Amino acid sequence: MVSHRTEGVYGETQLSANRIPVPQLIVLPVIPLCDPFVTGLERPYVESVLASDHWHGDGPFTKRAHALLQQLTDARSVLTTTSGTHALELASLLLELVPGDEVVCPTFTFSSTATAIAIRGATPVFVDSDPATMNVTADLVAAAVTERTRAVYVMHYGGVAVDLAAIGDLCRERGLLLVEDAAHGLGGAYRGQPLGSFGTYAALSFHDTKNASMGEGGALLVNHGGARDRAEIIREKGTNRSQFLRGVVDKYTWTDHGSSYLPSELLTAVLCAQLESFDAMQARRHEVWDRYKAELASWAQASGVELMTVPDDRQHPAHLFYLVLPTAADQSGFIAHLRDQGVIGAFHYQPLDASPAGRALGRTPYPCDVAHDRAARLVRLPVYPGLSSTDQDRVLDAATTYAVGSGRA
Ligand SMILES: *Cc1c(COP(=O)(O)O)cnc(C)c1O
Repeated sequence: MVSHRTEGVYGETQLSANRIPVPQLIVLPVIPLCDPFVTGLERPYVESVLASDHWHGDGPFTKRAHALLQQLTDARSVLTTTSGTHALELASLLLELVPGDEVVCPTFTFSSTATAIAIRGATPVFVDSDPATMNVTADLVAAAVTERTRAVYVMHYGGVAVDLAAIGDLCRERGLLLVEDAAHGLGGAYRGQPLGSFGTYAALSFHDTKNASMGEGGALLVNHGGARDRAEIIREKGTNRSQFLRGVVDKYTWTDHGSSYLPSELLTAVLCAQLESFDAMQARRHEVWDRYKAELASWAQASGVELMTVPDDRQHPAHLFYLVLPTAADQSGFIAHLRDQGVIGAFHYQPLDASPAGRALGRTPYPCDVAHDRAARLVRLPVYPGLSSTDQDRVLDAATTYAVGSGRA
């Protein structure tokens, strides 16, 4: 839906041979919302796997990916998974969530944060957003905690950390476990400490839309020393095969719950290529993000548009850039205006508390008015490492030629 690069828009003029401007139809490629970046090492790495006899998981590329991710996140241990969703499901299995348990989570998030709770029969309890970051806060979480609450699953929207000091204190006081959905958060930090290193568990995603991609994939970060062996077993179909391969046990057998959560070497080869170039990709993302922030400022101020902000004590990974328009009519009007200029802008999450599954499987203790209001007015702009500065010029021109108030409900 986002990257039909053959579609185009008409515009500009070209000089003819005798220098008389002749209007011409120039098909400009559509600028997508996101686009995975090819570092160049993906192909040789995948070819080296194909040339080997080890295509299944947990080979040399997976080991390297684990080491690279550990460096980036400071997590105690790392296990790659077949998706970010599966990493969250693994966390729910490790927590031994059962029907009747409640887990507090944001309403403004991707469905996976909640499906990972509901798939164990536990109840996701949805809470509202802080208007400044769209994240949950300690107060919003505290208002939803009951004697049934087992854990809090937070999501760092756009990789801007939730207030981990306050939420960490709340979890300690109430005896709740913290799980970070850090799908947006690789490269982000809170007071200098990398995201993914705070929760008992954290989940990363390497879907194409994230800051590093392996097509589909993710990782579980384990910060609780005692849980690593069990996480490894659950990831390997409930067997102690990983211990067997390390020579810790001399036969391997079925020992616990489990599923098949480990990705093929073909995919972790791609992930290694991406992670080895992560700093360069991030530098380019930050240039794009900083330019939006600087060059949209005066238009935004004059138009009553809010731009994404990042609290001073958080280091964001330039995962996305959004603005919040004055009205819901302006959200659709702005997206349509961008599309007319060949630029894809997009709204984001429809709050889960009002979704059909959220109503059937979850609980919403108080109205999530901020999330609903802002979700209806928020638009994301294209952010990806390969966005050229001339293409970003087009995005900026398209955005700043939108007349606020011209959208129709
Ligand atoms: C992308 C994403 C996930 C997990 O996605 P997968 O496609 O399963 O890797 C989970 N939570 C959030 C907030 C996400 O953006």
